[in-house]
Amino acid sequence: MTTRRKKIYEGQGKILYEGPEPGTLIQYFKDDTSDAGHPKKAVLEGKGVINNRISEYFMTRLNTIGVQNHFIRRLNLREQLIRELEIIPLQVVVRNVAAGSLSQRFGLPEGQALPRSIIEFYLRDPNLGNPIVTEEHITAFNWASTQELDDMMALALRINDFLSGTFGAVGITLVDFRVEFGRLWENDFSRVLLADEISPDTCRLWDAHTQEKLDKDRFRRDLGEVIESYAEVARRLGIMKEMPTVIQGGLH
Ligand code: UDP
Repeated sequence: MTTRRKKIYEGQGKILYEGPEPGTLIQYFKDDTSDAGHPKKAVLEGKGVINNRISEYFMTRLNTIGVQNHFIRRLNLREQLIRELEIIPLQVVVRNVAAGSLSQRFGLPEGQALPRSIIEFYLRDPNLGNPIVTEEHITAFNWASTQELDDMMALALRINDFLSGTFGAVGITLVDFRVEFGRLWENDFSRVLLADEISPDTCRLWDAHTQEKLDKDRFRRDLGEVIESYAEVARRLGIMKEMPTVIQGGLH
């Protein structure tokens, strides 16, 4: 039986539908990919399935170390049940190695290790090109409170430690990543929870030995073998062996 579901939101790589009960949503991972602010688009067959599994893998494990997040359970190949949060309109980026916009902004060679992990905030507004913002902007414009900023920074660093360790153990360097947070309201109080996804779409992942890119930069920079690289990340994390053969067959 199929039911007509109400679409709440559609972004570059995901669709949110109304969930089965109040306070829940269904997050659907698409194969579509695009680059914020650029016209380039592609459909990468199997990407949504892989990202759904990789995100499930990290959200589940982060939950066990006390990083609460919106993930409830995976429903099927492309969908997961999540808690509905009030999204904080910021993208939080954590960087360990210079790359991308940081390299451009400060003229740092890509691959240069940073003296310490750096956290940046960007306003989540594609019409403005997601501009970088400071803590002053965030609190002055009420995008988040000082307490929420502190919580997001502490959580972002814990997520960085966990992801760096997990990827490091399978020969992958976590160069940088982006996360989003939301508020879970209970009566008049709210807590900050990790939201969105953690996948090769939102992380820069380099092979620790060859420096080969295993993430969305393969699409952004036209390096080819995008889906094969995402599948390699899943395989190294031990996820790929459980993937249905139909997807594995479609990847080669
Ligand atoms: N990122 C993302 N979504 C965005 C912008 C960036 O997931 O809309 C991720 C990106 O994959 C990288 C990190 O955030 O892991 C830092 O990206 P950067 O600021 O260097 O921007 P880019 O070079 O990707 O434009």
